[in-house]
Amino acid sequence: MNLSWRHRAACQGVDPDVFFPVSDEDAADAKAICGVCPVREACLEYALARRERDGVWGGATERERRRILRQRRKTA
Ligand code: SF4
Repeated sequence: MNLSWRHRAACQGVDPDVFFPVSDEDAADAKAICGVCPVREACLEYALARRERDGVWGGATERERRRILRQRRKTA
């Protein structure tokens, strides 16, 4: 899997704790960073493909990623 997008990640150098909020409500800071990240889509697809369980990836929390996967299964 191509990981070159990681070099352009807006979250580089940010405290990783920000991306592992204890609840979806606490995910606002992470989502704000993802919101201006130029590689957001690649990051989200990477997390979805890996069934990444924890943390905010591509602006989506674990619960939101599960929803996206469910949605895709329905429309597949
Ligand atoms: S989308 Fe968010 S988690 Fe993914 S690389 Fe960008 S800033 Fe980091």
